[in-house]
Amino acid sequence: MTKEKVCRDCRRVVEGNECPICKSTDMTNKWRGVVVVIDPNSEIAQHMKLSVQGKYAIELK
Ligand SMILES: [Zn+2]
Repeated sequence: MTKEKVCRDCRRVVEGNECPICKSTDMTNKWRGVVVVIDPNSEIAQHMKLSVQGKYAIELK
């Protein structure tokens, strides 16, 4: 198992203790659901304000 956490600021799923996108170290391991952004121009990515490819949590607890 990987030790994935989620950045509270941008909801990106990251491994490690620093978010590669916003450099935040405010992480949570309580989250539910994942959306993978392949095309940042897609409707879902724009709706969720995700501008970088990658994996994001749908809901933080
Ligand atoms: Zn972040």
